[in-house]
Amino acid sequence: MSRIAGRVPARAAVPDNAPDAAWDRPWDVVVIGGGNAALVSALSATDAGARVLLLERAPAVYRGGNSRHTRNIRCAHGAADGYVTGAYPRAELRRDLDGVGTGPSDEALADLTIAESETVPAWMAAHGARWQPALRGTLGLARTNRFFLGGGKALVNSYYRTAARAGITVRYDACAADLEWSGDGKSVTALRVDTPAGRRRVAAKAVVAASGGFEANIDWLARYWGDAARNYLIRGPRYNDGTVLDLLLRAGAAQMGEERGFHAVAIDARSPQYDGGIATRLDSIPFGIVVNADGRRFYDDGEDIWPKRYAIWGGNLARQPGQIGFALWDEKVNGSFLPPMYGAYRGTSLATLAGQLGLDAGAVTRTVEEFNAAVDRGPGGEFTMAGKDGRRTEGIDPPKSNWAQRIDTPPFYGVPMRPGITFTYLGVGVTDKARVRSDGGGTLGNVFAAGEIMSGNILSSGYLAGFGMTIGTVWGRIAGLEAARHALR
Ligand SMILES: Cc1cc2nc3c(=O)[nH]c(=O)nc-3n(C[C@H](O)[C@H](O)[C@H](O)COP(=O)(O)OP(=O)(O)OC[C@H]3O[C@@H](n4cnc5c(N)ncnc54)[C@H](O)[C@@H]3O)c2cc1C
Repeated sequence: MSRIAGRVPARAAVPDNAPDAAWDRPWDVVVIGGGNAALVSALSATDAGARVLLLERAPAVYRGGNSRHTRNIRCAHGAADGYVTGAYPRAELRRDLDGVGTGPSDEALADLTIAESETVPAWMAAHGARWQPALRGTLGLARTNRFFLGGGKALVNSYYRTAARAGITVRYDACAADLEWSGDGKSVTALRVDTPAGRRRVAAKAVVAASGGFEANIDWLARYWGDAARNYLIRGPRYNDGTVLDLLLRAGAAQMGEERGFHAVAIDARSPQYDGGIATRLDSIPFGIVVNADGRRFYDDGEDIWPKRYAIWGGNLARQPGQIGFALWDEKVNGSFLPPMYGAYRGTSLATLAGQLGLDAGAVTRTVEEFNAAVDRGPGGEFTMAGKDGRRTEGIDPPKSNWAQRIDTPPFYGVPMRPGITFTYLGVGVTDKARVRSDGGGTLGNVFAAGEIMSGNILSSGYLAGFGMTIGTVWGRIAGLEAARHALR
């Protein structure tokens, strides 16, 4: 497996060959990563009295991993306040978690995450986070999820400022490339770090791995998905290539989470290979139909409440020829959803639109005619996105179970879509103290993990919006505290 997905541009944080005391001193805790889980770990370890070095592989301008693309966090709470519109009891959060994929991988760790989530917002605010009320139309999360003022980038920036004030040493362009193990192979003694000035060695009493998943490593994805993976776009940075996950698994860490599992949504096929973030997502699907490269529909485009279903479409597209699909709609609904970031293709007839999208005009026209006839056979009724409206097709496979209306009003619109991979599920197993578990029983001594790299302990498959940041924050707090305790014992 190639460990590096593409060349990562190097920008020197310190001039080449300049002496840098960060590498010479032994640290209580070295945190690998520069996103939410890493920052929370570093802050938590520092609060517990440890001297902490944080290694962020990205240059400073791109610091923050997937976390800088986020908007909100899901925590249990007892009542409404200025930022959430009502209570969200632990039991309801647990039910929501049970309802995604095949439910939690480890029930006890899931319950611990939920219980700990209650104190997360106050902890975050005490470390620099600020909130804003949910924007209208943001997936109906106003009661359950708390939104970051200015989004994930602002949150990450606040944490870096708090970290600087707390005396945490941060090195950018610092890629943890290898781990040195003690003679008995049971704990890490030092890390080898690739920097613009060459490879450095840094000694650590405890290590927190908070380096995200492996979604940016196309070769690794291709192990499970074959060449289809070459057509995937990655919504977050190129830096999450799983180098540290790979090192830990090779060192005998227990494996958790589905190897093939990822969270993926339908994004504009014209998006960049990496880091398109939230703006490239397409929300038009329930308003029209989706066809593949052959101009045929292939999945129920109106299956369930749209926010519950939007994450199905990444996988749906991944299974289509060429990993591409095309969202089509007409003038009637145009403007009812967030406009596509790069604009839509537009044609006065379906045939013209099909030509612009590189599709067979006859096939697309036939598909829309068959679809319209199936809408006519359906029960009709009021079209509303407030819930499942029961406006379904009749006598067509696949059906459209809700929001089915004729596509008949020119101009017609279309956008090409590809799978946009958000993150992967495969990670390392941990104990309730965030210690990385060993495959053969016991733990990897002084190695702790937080965030996406261990989210497979909580989520088996499927995803609950806002819970990635919950996992990172809850487990960052535990990992940082326990790593500090280990180092200072
Ligand atoms: C577009 C988008 C929107 C999202 N929106 C939300 C949302 O609103 N709410 C939510 O809860 N979740 C959301 N998520 C998911 C969320 O981003 C993740 O669950 C969460 O950020 C994971 O945090 P993390 O710290 O584990 O990983 P990351 O934030 O990805 O951080 C990993 C860090 O490790 C660094 N790194 C990687 N390898 C190395 C190495 N070898 N050496 C040193 N550093 C390394 C990376 O540079 C990066 O800084 C979203 C994801 C995307 C892509």
